Amino acid sequence: MTGAAPAVDWDQASAECVEHLRALIRIPSVNPPGVADAAAGMDSTGGETAAAAYCAEVLTSAGVAAEVLETIPGRGSCFARLPATVADPEPPLVLLSHVDVVPVDVDSWSHDPFGGELIDGVVWGRGAVDMKDMVAMELSVMLALARAGGERSRDLIFAAVADEEAGGVFGAGHWASERPDLFSDAAGRPAAAALNEVGGYSMTVRGRRVYGIQVAEKGIAWTRMHASGTTGHGSMPNPDNAALKLAEAVTRLAAAPQPARLTPVVERFLAALGLTAVADGIRSGDEASAFAALEAGVEDPVLRRSIAAMLRDTVTTTMIQAGKKMNVIPGSGEAQIDVRTLPGTDQHALLAEMQATVGTLARVEPVIMLPAIEAASDAPIVELMRSALLAADPEAMAVPMMITPGTDAKALARLAIPTYGFAPLLLAADMPFLSLFHGHDERVPVSAIEFGLPVLHEVVSRFVTREMPG
Ligand SMILES: [Zn+2]
Repeated sequence: MTGAAPAVDWDQASAECVEHLRALIRIPSVNPPGVADAAAGMDSTGGETAAAAYCAEVLTSAGVAAEVLETIPGRGSCFARLPATVADPEPPLVLLSHVDVVPVDVDSWSHDPFGGELIDGVVWGRGAVDMKDMVAMELSVMLALARAGGERSRDLIFAAVADEEAGGVFGAGHWASERPDLFSDAAGRPAAAALNEVGGYSMTVRGRRVYGIQVAEKGIAWTRMHASGTTGHGSMPNPDNAALKLAEAVTRLAAAPQPARLTPVVERFLAALGLTAVADGIRSGDEASAFAALEAGVEDPVLRRSIAAMLRDTVTTTMIQAGKKMNVIPGSGEAQIDVRTLPGTDQHALLAEMQATVGTLARVEPVIMLPAIEAASDAPIVELMRSALLAADPEAMAVPMMITPGTDAKALARLAIPTYGFAPLLLAADMPFLSLFHGHDERVPVSAIEFGLPVLHEVVSRFVTREMPG
């Protein structure tokens, strides 16, 4: 119990949170660092360390012990901890975020991508949704709990890490492997749960407002296809041409999509969105009717693509390279295939199936294999998230959700820490939110943060002040 802990002034806390967001956007922590032209003429070398140092300074000045750790110079992450106050604490809760952002195409922006401008109630800039908004919200929750004092039944850990946008080798992946203590308590027990990016925002489908509580993310099976042929002069064609073989191989893969399949989380999510016809179609093996129902039921094309990708393992050719010269028939070539798998898919079996599909045209090889992850949908912390959302927005629904991209949650999964995507934001029905991730004109309404900050605080404060299993 927090006892006589002072109530939070949410107007002030939200305003402070927005200022932290704007300050973080003004630090160009572009990944890969140092790409001056992509970063609107700004040098982003050391940007991650600068952003991590900003967090550490804010926390330290509020009396919270915080440190910046670097894998290599400039690739910094901020770790801080509000320790448990009870004698026999529960395992910690982690507030996870990443400080890096993807590059920008500055000419496509309406406002300075690194200006952090606040215009008509909207904060503009790279990272406004992915994910400096959540860095600022988690920072604000740390500050509120530090100021409130009172009893804590577990450690609350703040981890704002580098390099999420390039796989976490210089961030979560490294720290989870080399310093698991950063995500554990003094007794060495890993955290009971982590709260991270993406899920938690509202979606409006046919007038229904639904919050997705992200409990799962698809697996990654990045795959290479290698083709070889007989090199020769371009004026004397021979059919043993690596470029042609690759072209045929990727075309065969595209023509043979994996069958649609419902996971329990996706099935419940479809029902909440009023898309039972989609689930019915898949269950009865009528994919055409399922995807027609999806087309008819969801107006936002990006949300529609996102839902479609929740329904099957996807195999997407993203790079093809063969040949170096106009008049030379290539003797070898490579295609890169971005394969994303549902929970329950055997990734190696899928690659073997892809090999059978392309036959002798090319050799299929795994590059990176990370299975899908799924945390318990019925964990007490999920119920806390649901009830906090519904208390703040009684007319909405809140349901577990799977996302199709990967996050740093996969690194924490190696420590057996269940990670939930929960960045609560109430968004207008016409907000093209998903297209803003890595998109031009990335922006977030202040009203969305004013909604989300107290919701996040409610979940965190209840989880760390009560005896509650993970
Ligand atoms: Zn992100």
